[in-house]
Amino acid sequence: MVSSMKEARRAPGSEWLKNRPHFLEMVYKFSEEAFIKSYPLLKRIPFFKGIMVVGEELGKGWMFNCQMCGQCILHSTGMTCPMTCPKNLRNGPCGGVRANGNCEVIPDMPCVWVQAWERSQNMTLYSHEIKLIQPPVNRALHNTSSWINMAEGIDANVPPGWQQAASSMAKEGHA
Ligand code: SF4
Repeated sequence: MVSSMKEARRAPGSEWLKNRPHFLEMVYKFSEEAFIKSYPLLKRIPFFKGIMVVGEELGKGWMFNCQMCGQCILHSTGMTCPMTCPKNLRNGPCGGVRANGNCEVIPDMPCVWVQAWERSQNMTLYSHEIKLIQPPVNRALHNTSSWINMAEGIDANVPPGWQQAASSMAKEGHA
């Protein structure tokens, strides 16, 4: 039985691509640098924000089942979208992962975080970032372009006191 939950969608060919995380991280690194450099010019294009939103919905929607959180951390999570976890967990799996590595909520689907960990181990540039403690997701950025939010530094805004809390958690071994 295949779940109808939107988190369970996997487009044809997308798993094959995601199982090549080193290739994807190289593409990401190159794209990130190119986008940041050209952003001052790109943002002058009429309707650029709208074009980016539609582009991400289609492109990342097909490849990663992107849920348009607007704060992309794919390169930190084994090129596996954490928002496709039915519980939207961004800091590792819940306690309900099944013995076969599948999801507690969608039994036919591999746990997103099991896949994220395994894929991160096949990366070289960003594999260490799987251990970062991610800040709470900012729901106000839903349906905005994560690329623009990255270039503008909007996705780096964290709640007051977050950095302190994250470093305490890291020291206590929660990371
Ligand atoms: S923008 Fe958010 S929802 Fe979309 S792929 Fe990245 S982490 Fe997932």
